[in-house]
Amino acid sequence: MNTSDQILRSPQFTKIAGEMAAVGRFLADRGWSPATSSNYSTKIDPDHIALTRTGVDKFKMTSEDVIIVNRSGEVLAPREQRASAETLIHTTIYNHVPTAEAILHTHSPENTRLSLHFLNHGEVIFEGYEMQKGLEGNSTHEQKVHVPIVPNAQDMQAFSLVVEDLFRKSPKMHGFLIAGHGLYTWGSSLKLAQRQVETFEFLFRCLTLEMAGV
Ligand SMILES: [Zn+2]
Repeated sequence: MNTSDQILRSPQFTKIAGEMAAVGRFLADRGWSPATSSNYSTKIDPDHIALTRTGVDKFKMTSEDVIIVNRSGEVLAPREQRASAETLIHTTIYNHVPTAEAILHTHSPENTRLSLHFLNHGEVIFEGYEMQKGLEGNSTHEQKVHVPIVPNAQDMQAFSLVVEDLFRKSPKMHGFLIAGHGLYTWGSSLKLAQRQVETFEFLFRCLTLEMAGV
């Protein structure tokens, strides 16, 4: 039995996978991960990442839907499983944000719609919302929150270079939007990553209301 198989059978992995499944069902319940979309990950140790396997219905997600990949995005265990096409985005984020312990990617109607609407601006900006404090390390509503937007792509190898460039331009971002696609955000724990998603989705909803004239 090699190291990754041992990790797969460890109580630590069982706990992480169970927590990821609970978060996955929470996000799906809110309509933020429809139709098997979205993927989530958590760092197990510096070399191993727990990641959702491809094609999982997040409403019914269980710990069985979590696999182990390495920092290059290759599946280590169970070997017969396939990782999501977007695995490289996760590994690129971990490479650029050493404090990130978990990454969540969601497809809500609001984040998808706003990412297209503001694509020409290159970002969505929030200002004056108390909930901006829900983003990790933000202690005030007075500072603007910038959420960069990058065009969507299907070639993940090329797209990971776009994400790398994004981190060079916006090293302090809390997350980013892919146009017409969805949100990537992260936290120093899975719980905090979930709080980031909830905060962002609240802000996206508020902006949608603002644009509707409410
Ligand atoms: Zn996606």
